[in-house]
Amino acid sequence: MSFTLNDLPLRDDLRGRSAYGAPQLDVPVVLNTNENPHAPSPRLAKALAEAVADTALGLNRYPDRDAVRLREGLAAYLGHGLTAAHVWAANGSNEVLQQLLQAFGGPGRTAMGFEPSYSMHPIISRGTGTHWVPVPRDADFRIDVDAALAAIEEHRPSVVFLTSPNNPTGTALEMADIERVARAAPGVVVVDEAYAEFRRANTPSALSLLPDHPRVIVSRTMSKAFALAGARVGYLAAHPAVVDALQLVRLPYHLSAVTQTVALTALEHAEELLGAVDDLRAERDALVLWLREQGFSVADSDANFVLFGEFEDRSRVWRDLLDQDVLIRETGPDGWLRVTVGTSEEMAAFRAALLKVTGR
Ligand code: PMP
Repeated sequence: MSFTLNDLPLRDDLRGRSAYGAPQLDVPVVLNTNENPHAPSPRLAKALAEAVADTALGLNRYPDRDAVRLREGLAAYLGHGLTAAHVWAANGSNEVLQQLLQAFGGPGRTAMGFEPSYSMHPIISRGTGTHWVPVPRDADFRIDVDAALAAIEEHRPSVVFLTSPNNPTGTALEMADIERVARAAPGVVVVDEAYAEFRRANTPSALSLLPDHPRVIVSRTMSKAFALAGARVGYLAAHPAVVDALQLVRLPYHLSAVTQTVALTALEHAEELLGAVDDLRAERDALVLWLREQGFSVADSDANFVLFGEFEDRSRVWRDLLDQDVLIRETGPDGWLRVTVGTSEEMAAFRAALLKVTGR
């Protein structure tokens, strides 16, 4: 008997949709999901293992439901006078975003974002029954703030997503622009700063807006600069009332004791984990210059990836690079490709492969 998901009582709005996710392929040069290329050192791995062994002695009990020590550690890391009351953590920033939409979105409500941007924003919106309104960015992938304010006025969204630096373009927002949107938005403004640590000098973080803007929420992650994607730890900083609101939708004990321990131990070794960020930023800036020298169009990047093009057949370039053992991401506007910044050896392999497959 053939039985597929179409034979199940699937929600009408999920029918025909495909699951989100980049291909997970076993190739030598993996530059497709904006991870930090540096694995934990053996010394740090040992510290993590010892901390987890200690936690294991108490695994018959549920974890701290409020993850207080972790939130204290994250608040200290962020600075800006933040405390545990301003911080909330979950299994990756995707779960943080989902909890935000469960609390502030939902049926009859609207979320808005400026595309091209992180495609999980519309997917999590739809998954929570929130109507999604995309507003296009301009030709330089910047947000036209006047157009944004007009769209906000028209749609009155409960949730506005501002992604800075933006994925997949790398574009960062000016503080004044975030503030204008925050003043105009009738609901919450979620500034997704997953790539914040990779910003260029002078590019601001929305954290400094929090004291004066209680409906601004800054979302962060340990998956990128912190080199901890496998541990699944994301967090936010906001007014304590936002953290109170999330208690109404979070699952009890959502963050396992193992996860909390791993994240806390990682925070104790923040210097080591973040140690490669400066090198990755330098590698990124060099990559942007090199791609431009080769005649490609390249978006300015404040992140650990670069969007470049334009290709008549980007799928062919993507496949040809894969044939050269280099995996990048086919995402963003038609004709463009995104490459994550890896080690200098990985970037050399990428440059050589790109020259080969594009015949330059
Ligand atoms: N926000 C943005 C802009 C991202 O690019 C990503 C990861 N691709 C995330 C959030 C989610 O990351 P994580 O769930 O690993 O924290």
